[in-house]
Amino acid sequence: MKYGVHTIWRYNCYKKGMKQKFIYVGFICAGVLFSAARCGQSRQITEKKIQTTMQTEDTFPVKKTEEEWKAALSPAEYQVLREKGTERPYSSEYETLWDSGTYVCKGCGSELFSSATKFDAGCGWPSFYQSIDKSRVKEILDKSHGMVRTEVVCAKCGGHLGHVFNDGYGQPTGLRYCINGVSLGFKKKE
Ligand SMILES: [Zn+2]
Repeated sequence: MKYGVHTIWRYNCYKKGMKQKFIYVGFICAGVLFSAARCGQSRQITEKKIQTTMQTEDTFPVKKTEEEWKAALSPAEYQVLREKGTERPYSSEYETLWDSGTYVCKGCGSELFSSATKFDAGCGWPSFYQSIDKSRVKEILDKSHGMVRTEVVCAKCGGHLGHVFNDGYGQPTGLRYCINGVSLGFKKKE
């Protein structure tokens, strides 16, 4: 016998291993294609449904110098509100807070979102389906980081809050205001 039992066994194992590898690769490819398709779809909807209004710093009523903002905010708050940073997902205590009350801008105190419109989007950031009033936030077209998104800023101080997406599935508006908890304060309803 040219090949021993051991050799045949090893060859079979090798074949089996290759087959498994192909299955894994297949799954990964399918996943990537599915995500890309969903992403493209949501982007199309985003461009269609969300109305953006271009806004410049000069039009916000609350104005402070960078030094004044630095003195008024913590480094983490400053990074998000004034430098358009993003907090780590699941890092905000507000993500899992379900008390009744009002979420206010950390920069100027303006009332922005009601707990009544907060929902669990499972994305790691506090999510709302609408602002308290359309006049409280400004929505700006954001093409940074190779993406087309709609940035949400406080209408009073221009502080960066987060982004709004059209994937608030099952919510009355179909929107998801994905907001950095660090840009918010919370006034609990008595
Ligand atoms: Zn503000």
